[in-house]
Amino acid sequence: MIHGGFFSESSTSSEVKLAKQQALKRIAEAAHAYLLTHSALETVAFAVQMLEDDPLFNAGTGSQIQSDGIIRMSAAIMDGQSARFSGVINLENVQNPIQVAVQLFSEDDRVLGGEGAGKFAKEAGFPFYNPEIPQRRGEYEAKLKATGIGTVGCVALDGLGRLAAATSTGGKGFERVGRISDSATVAGNYANEFCAVSCTGVGEDIVSGAIAAKIVTRVSDGMAATVAVERTFNELKSFDGFAGAIVLTATGEMIWQDSHPHMVWAHTDGESTKVFD
Ligand code: ASP
Repeated sequence: MIHGGFFSESSTSSEVKLAKQQALKRIAEAAHAYLLTHSALETVAFAVQMLEDDPLFNAGTGSQIQSDGIIRMSAAIMDGQSARFSGVINLENVQNPIQVAVQLFSEDDRVLGGEGAGKFAKEAGFPFYNPEIPQRRGEYEAKLKATGIGTVGCVALDGLGRLAAATSTGGKGFERVGRISDSATVAGNYANEFCAVSCTGVGEDIVSGAIAAKIVTRVSDGMAATVAVERTFNELKSFDGFAGAIVLTATGEMIWQDSHPHMVWAHTDGESTKVFD
């Protein structure tokens, strides 16, 4: 299962919608083919890298620009089996933040932010890359969030029953320097042996709702996944939380949910692929 953030009908055209549907279908199917010979953990990184490389989505190339005119990206990966989590927060000038998170996976210090994350990426050999596209600069200059909320994510279950989750974002756009996105926290990206979740939406709301960690905990404690998702999203209502999530369980149950229209998603089991409508 993958997601590509939110689609705002008021501000984007039907051509963009179609392009997102086609891109999500293509990436879900390519990731599924990859999953046949790779682990869930390797596959979520592979899928998120493809999403980062597609400028239609707000992650990697095509990321939103922060209030000071600079792009800072966040990404995280979690292996459900080993319960290992690694991530980068507010990383600048790399092509694939998710690959820097992958590189941190085997380190002792596994979540790095800002300058330290940049230094680590440089030392690990990630070349300088400017992820800006002209459309984002135009939006920034017009101070318009024309394409709505973004972020990309993937949850996967492999043939050995292992789950993993990965999430990557360019952030909300126009945010204050130093603002922390949910994507590289356990609220936005979490997996264990029972369930894997990747979120998108307003990071502050996702953190307030502790969405990914809460859904995974509830499923681990025996709650049906549909009920866990419903309850967690109901809890967002008291503060009108804006969020979406893709949820995959160890039994292969796939759930997607948003509190506001419309998260864009795709999922495939190799035989049939479904894409948001
Ligand atoms: N969750 C991301 C953030 O708040 C934004 C998004 O999902 O579009 O940084």
